[in-house]
Amino acid sequence: MYIQQIARQTINRCCFSTAAVNEGTFLDQVMAYFNKAAGHTKISQDKLDFYKSTDIVIKFNLPLVRDDGTYVCVPAYRAQHKTYRLPTKGGTRLSPHINIEEVEALSFLMTLKNSILDLPYGGAKGGIGINPRKFSKREIETLMRRYTLELAKKNFIGAAIDVPGPDLGTGEQEMSWMKDAYTKFKGHQDINSVGCVTGKAINQGGISGRQESTGMGIFFATREILNDVKYCQSVGIESSLRGKSIIIQGYGNVGSFCAKYMYDYGAKIIGVAEHDGSIYNPNGINPYELAAHKTKTGGVKGFVNAQKYWEDESAIYQQCDIFIPAAFEKTVNVNNADKFNCKIIAEGANGPTTMAAEDKLLAKGVIFLPDILLNAGGVTVSYLEWLKNLKHINPGRMTRRWEEQAKHRILEVIKMSTGLNINIKDSKIAKKMLEGPSETDLVHTALEQSMIEAVKNIMATSQEYKVNLRLAAYISAINKLNEHFEISGVEA
Ligand code: GLU
Repeated sequence: MYIQQIARQTINRCCFSTAAVNEGTFLDQVMAYFNKAAGHTKISQDKLDFYKSTDIVIKFNLPLVRDDGTYVCVPAYRAQHKTYRLPTKGGTRLSPHINIEEVEALSFLMTLKNSILDLPYGGAKGGIGINPRKFSKREIETLMRRYTLELAKKNFIGAAIDVPGPDLGTGEQEMSWMKDAYTKFKGHQDINSVGCVTGKAINQGGISGRQESTGMGIFFATREILNDVKYCQSVGIESSLRGKSIIIQGYGNVGSFCAKYMYDYGAKIIGVAEHDGSIYNPNGINPYELAAHKTKTGGVKGFVNAQKYWEDESAIYQQCDIFIPAAFEKTVNVNNADKFNCKIIAEGANGPTTMAAEDKLLAKGVIFLPDILLNAGGVTVSYLEWLKNLKHINPGRMTRRWEEQAKHRILEVIKMSTGLNINIKDSKIAKKMLEGPSETDLVHTALEQSMIEAVKNIMATSQEYKVNLRLAAYISAINKLNEHFEISGVEA
């Protein structure tokens, strides 16, 4: 049962195209994007070299006795890319492909993402080298707890030090185990121990709205960019997300929520690729029905409302307005770049496009909405969860009732002064308007505001430097890093 649950959140790489060897490592790719953007700034090379280097990366082994009695040694990692702002922050993945360079690259992206969203964190990323589909619930729990203990012993975790969140293959359960292991070990000395990780279950100190936050953030950012009529005209695309046809790669936590929000807004989901193949229907796929199908079967195969099913990823190459890679890195690469038939690539995953693929697609006029802006909703809501943990109070607890009463008083004044007879008892909308905000309301609106502001900033940078959105996102993050270090200095 547990292995099936995990399988719903993880993506099997073998179904998706992988990058050519000569495209370099994931870290090479991130460095290349950074260097290209840095060339537009006036920052000296020595400083840039410092900004892009990883402060700390550790690898250690976790011992495990498997359910059949055999001993295994599982590699585990954590990279803290820049510790200039503490704590550092970033996800924890369970993946057999994880290695030092991958966590360095991902932690680098986190530094940039945190900078773009003005989150007071350095970037980090870590994980454990297993395929969670092949491990039982007990085995995964043992590994998560031991991983946390090892990080704690090395002073690598804590609300003021480094705060892991969820990533590929991890969710509320795994983050709750990490919190539990840490609080049992350190809770008596650390009143903020619950804030040692984010993405926890609500009854373990999590926050409402964290689960859907990455997908929702992609929706908000894409909607905002496409609402900018001038920008859309300048790059030759039709404005508005409404009516756009969408194909998604990866129907896990990120892809499925993103699909639902876009569909509710009026976009049409016409294709989805998963580990067990891909489906296509030009008349539209209902993302809620597909999510229910995936929960039941573990994949997209056999979905009744698909016109076509392929055993491989073929659906992602069909014609559409927006392709959303929401799986993992380098799925858009030099091997498959020529096959795409989309106008926009909205990057939900971290590092889905290699530079060689981007060059080819830019030449064809494809527009990229970059990962470090688009998928930053997850860490933004993690920030809200962390603040909730540090404050030791649920958002709105002190003010919700007061706000509700204040709105009622205003309504009474309006009624008295205008003689209007408004009967709110029978109106659902009026009742909702008079309610104080729930935790979910506060989280969703805070996320929306954060994404809107970030999009505005990147659009402004793009105009100022006359560059595309990816370069603008990198330039904006690099400039903010530089401004920080100019004031703080870099030495002890
Ligand atoms: N895994 C998320 C990301 O790549 C962030 C995790 C966190 O909230 O720290 O942005």
